[in-house]
Amino acid sequence: MMEGAPLAARIRAEVAEEVRLLGGVGLATVLVGDDPASEIYIGRKHAAAGEAGIAASDVRLPSTVSEAELLELVALMNQDDAVDAVLVQLPLPEHIDEDRVARAVHPFKDVDGLHPDNAGELYLGRPRLVPATAIGILALLAEYRIELEGARAVVVGRSAIVGKPTAQLLLRANATVTVCHSRTQDLARHTLDAEVLVVAVGDAEVVTADMIKAGATVVDVGVNRTPGGLVGDVDRDAVDVAAHLTPVPGGVGPMTIACLLQNAVQCARLRRAAGA
Ligand code: NDP
Repeated sequence: MMEGAPLAARIRAEVAEEVRLLGGVGLATVLVGDDPASEIYIGRKHAAAGEAGIAASDVRLPSTVSEAELLELVALMNQDDAVDAVLVQLPLPEHIDEDRVARAVHPFKDVDGLHPDNAGELYLGRPRLVPATAIGILALLAEYRIELEGARAVVVGRSAIVGKPTAQLLLRANATVTVCHSRTQDLARHTLDAEVLVVAVGDAEVVTADMIKAGATVVDVGVNRTPGGLVGDVDRDAVDVAAHLTPVPGGVGPMTIACLLQNAVQCARLRRAAGA
């Protein structure tokens, strides 16, 4: 099992030290509505930020807030000197355009790495602020010394927050990358070829054990709430076939939180370097 918690704890301790050396880092989060899963995620992010000495403010808005009001709040956070990093928790209510919100966050305060400037830098092979889950996955693969150079890597899922940035980082690490999605024909044909398989779909057990190459490394990003509890996107029987598999929970989740804090530090450094 590729456990995320021990590495995440080390990263969080390093972040705490960097926050101390920087003389403080400020994170502002915005949660719109009362989605229970989002509340849990925001709660975890705040707990982890507090432990690392990051000053975090927690703005809650009703689901009826207009897009213009949310954009105005983001503009205020962009101008606020005490705020190094801005996080708008996704998903947003349907009447708010997530893309417009991502573009509204100052690129140096873009702790989630969703601003087109940051996504573009990653695309061009110059990662600056990269979505935390993608960084966390690569850090976990490095921790377990998984060879990426020349490896056949398959990413299932192409979201801007997980699938695409993970594929870009794998490409940068010289893997040969295939990206699969909902229109992919014969998913198993691709997954069976993967030496490194990353699954970020959000569909319990979309990948079954018979879809995994013997000895593969499997990163299960999915978080699905079922009557039986939290499960990932990969059938747990995969453990009999794969050489490495991340647990759910306890694999990618803790890495996402730790790398988010790392990103907040990176935001603070970028602003200080730019004198912004
Ligand atoms: P999205 O819904 O944004 O993206 C899902 C992707 O999966 C899409 O690209 C979609 O394809 C693809 N997909 C859907 N069905 C299939 C299928 N049957 N076969 C192949 N591909 C399919 O989700 P996210 O990327 O935001 O999240 C994915 C999962 O990861 C969720 O369970 C989420 O909760 C979890 N997550 C976990 C985190 C953690 O820290 N552990 C952090 C972030 C997310 P198409 O583009 O064609 O629609």
